[in-house]
Amino acid sequence: MSVNELLDIIVSEVTVCTKCSLWETRKNAVPGEGNSKARIMFIGEAPGRSEDIMGRPFVGDAGKFLETLLAEMSLSRTDVFICNILKCRPPGNRPPKPIEIQTCTPYLDRQINAINPRFIVTLGNFSTAYIFQKTGLPFTSITNAHGKFHKATVLNKKITIFPTFHPAAALYSPKYKQEIINDFKLLKRELAKRGKT
Ligand code: URA
Ligand code: SF4
Repeated sequence: MSVNELLDIIVSEVTVCTKCSLWETRKNAVPGEGNSKARIMFIGEAPGRSEDIMGRPFVGDAGKFLETLLAEMSLSRTDVFICNILKCRPPGNRPPKPIEIQTCTPYLDRQINAINPRFIVTLGNFSTAYIFQKTGLPFTSITNAHGKFHKATVLNKKITIFPTFHPAAALYSPKYKQEIINDFKLLKRELAKRGKT
């Protein structure tokens, strides 16, 4: 089966998923989207209000900021793959619950397996903690982990993990905004250095 076919199947399953209680309050599930041959995968936390309405990831204010960060690297949304740990919005944007993460992440794992990216950029605490736990890397906090390239084995694939803060943090904190901008400069440099690998 082609990567596009595998991704389409995940979309069709997520769209009607009722495996955890979040389906009861969602307007739309948000499976994730982007290039099936993406070299970089971005993993956020969960859909917010705009994403729930649109059924697409990172389409609100945090998404606008993410798009400007991508543009700084001469990339657009269609060059990368963008998704979240949870595919449905937690009511009021409350943090994901462990049971929700456990129930939903098989979809994310299948997306990682299908795309087989060279880099995973984890956005914020939840996605960083989830990916680190899969690799066996010790996770203390996003403050310690961010801005570094962690060479790891995820789902039997060699993938470089690059954590940064969640782009939503930039909307209320100039300090975090600058940290994210600095991290993306490091990412841009590493992508150029690594060439096609
Ligand atoms: N925040 C996230 O973590 N994901 C989105 O898709 C939008 C906002
Ligand atoms: Fe299914 Fe994930 Fe949505 Fe829960 S959050 S209903 S597991 S798609």
